[in-house]
Amino acid sequence: MKIIVIPGDGIGPETMSACYEVMMAASQRFGLGLELEHEIAGLESLNKRGATVTQELLEKVKTRDGLMLGPMSTYNYQDESKGEINPSLFFRKKLDLFANIRPSKTYPGMAKRLPQDFDLVVVRENTEGFYADRNVESGGSEMLITSDVVISLRRITRLCCERIAKSAFELAQHRKKHVTIVHKANVLKMGDGMFIDVCHAIAKDYPDVVVDDFIVDAMMAHVVRSPERFDVIVTTNMFGDILSDLTAELSGSLGLAGTLNAGKLYAMGQAAHGSAPDIAGQNIANPLSQILSGAMLLTWHGQKTKQTKFLTAAQAIEDSAAYLMLTKQVTPDVGGNLKTDSTARAFVNHLLTSYH
Ligand code: NAD
Repeated sequence: MKIIVIPGDGIGPETMSACYEVMMAASQRFGLGLELEHEIAGLESLNKRGATVTQELLEKVKTRDGLMLGPMSTYNYQDESKGEINPSLFFRKKLDLFANIRPSKTYPGMAKRLPQDFDLVVVRENTEGFYADRNVESGGSEMLITSDVVISLRRITRLCCERIAKSAFELAQHRKKHVTIVHKANVLKMGDGMFIDVCHAIAKDYPDVVVDDFIVDAMMAHVVRSPERFDVIVTTNMFGDILSDLTAELSGSLGLAGTLNAGKLYAMGQAAHGSAPDIAGQNIANPLSQILSGAMLLTWHGQKTKQTKFLTAAQAIEDSAAYLMLTKQVTPDVGGNLKTDSTARAFVNHLLTSYH
């Protein structure tokens, strides 16, 4: 399996280096034959190539089996005409990575934010919605009407609703068989009205899956009050982005939030969090989000190519993360006192000595 690895900005080089070590150890232990090829995007690419991401890089990624993308300081990218393009959006749009799968769960032994355990997945539509930057073929869909008036376009299409709903129901079939639709159809009557209708129509193909729905603002209360009642949560782009940061933090830390961006042909592993400039360069960022994203990419590839060794390796990575959490060999954000690099070493050590 050939994977392009892009460290990104801020804490990206630290967490991606840890992820690289763990994936190579998994390759060694499970005979995966991983070829991890280093590439650049973000500020390093802006300095060296004049753009944060390039068409040449996209073409290269298309010839490989997967992409690992580090976090980017996108808030600082102001002007696309100066090459300041959001690489995350770029790959999601150009590779049609419509499903952003964002699991959150509690781990035994970890200091808890809530008394109860939970295990849920937010399935977020990734290619349209309130993110005006991905709604039109070229340019953006934010308009400066006057210097005091801006319109940001929200796009909802039947096709995107259908395919994200299918992703959610497929996933639920292999979990607790429960899908929760999150929306704001009381206000966005047409867009979210269509989203709900499509989700319920797709649900008919999955009669053994229980379906319910919540308005997004009320959902914030429900998920804080009793996250254990949810299994798969399907929602539009921005609601999913916000909700999944909340569920990640409720599980212990944003630094635990591994995600996969998946389409029909391509997939990209990416942590849910950003470049965390407040802790960059300090060797204290939690690398587990990046590492768990890597495991999700291995699972995707294993399912696509029907090679169980990738599924076994991904499970071993997830189990190793749980072991590190239980034995407190983790970074300060989840109650440990290890550094980013020593967490990676402990991870590799467990992976290489515990699975035969
Ligand atoms: P952030 O997600 O980077 O950080 C939020 C908080 O979580 C900070 O306190 C940070 O220290 C902490 N945190 C994040 N990741 C952590 C980790 N692995 N371990 C421990 N703590 C962690 O959000 P922000 O500060 O609002 O954004 C910083 C930059 O990242 C901005 O430029 C933003 O646009 C960008 N961003 C990029 C992505 C992406 O590339 N996918 C996603 C979100 C934000």
